[in-house]
Amino acid sequence: MTEELFREDAMLATCEARIVAVDELGVELDRTVFYPVGGGQAGDAGRLVLSNGNGSAEGPTLAIADTRKHPDRPGVVVHVPAADADPVWRTAFVPGAAVTAHIDTTRRRAHMRFHTATHLLCALVPHAVNGCSITAGYARLDFHMSEPLDKEALSAGIARLVAEAHPVRHRWISEEELDANPGLVRSMSVQPPRGLGRVRVLEIEGVDLQPCGGTHVANTAEVGDVIVTKIEKKSAMTRRVVLGFAGAAGT
Ligand SMILES: [Zn+2]
Repeated sequence: MTEELFREDAMLATCEARIVAVDELGVELDRTVFYPVGGGQAGDAGRLVLSNGNGSAEGPTLAIADTRKHPDRPGVVVHVPAADADPVWRTAFVPGAAVTAHIDTTRRRAHMRFHTATHLLCALVPHAVNGCSITAGYARLDFHMSEPLDKEALSAGIARLVAEAHPVRHRWISEEELDANPGLVRSMSVQPPRGLGRVRVLEIEGVDLQPCGGTHVANTAEVGDVIVTKIEKKSAMTRRVVLGFAGAAGT
């Protein structure tokens, strides 16, 4: 199991860790700040820096292009080396070695802003979501609905919720609590999964409440200038809403 530090503190950009294993997929650490692709959110990129023991200059560095959940080992996060990384890294990044893990904070910050914006969208469009993709360049949500959506009205709705500066926080809720609070379950825009013992719930105060394991900003004000760039009718019962940063290329 990898200790997932990003679940408790999405603001962490770096951590000390130890290499547990290395396989053909990449590097496993005992703990990490790297978010593995999941829940629609893209995985983190960044770098692992070998501790060289003298505490001064940075040791050898391995560029990480992506982060994934290990397909065969539940609970294990794999740091995927960049395709152009010098293969010699395998001689230095070995089990037992101490490293400092650094995420690409620009990329993660974009994920967090877009991810939080998708929750705002869920509050504005009260329909089930059947698809979600969050990258550093855009986010999109597929709503199960046939009614048309208005691009300008949704952008204005997001801008209003951003301006209102709602606090964003997560908490863990046990299944016993869920069972004892049917009203809480009813108020969630997405129904919580069962059988896990406890569920991580993301609350945007007064706006949205749903189970979510992703990374978010701490206040809707930090979402900033996110707008709806496109609305597509993907099928008779699917409306796709695409979000972008205002002023970015292509918007
Ligand atoms: Zn979320």
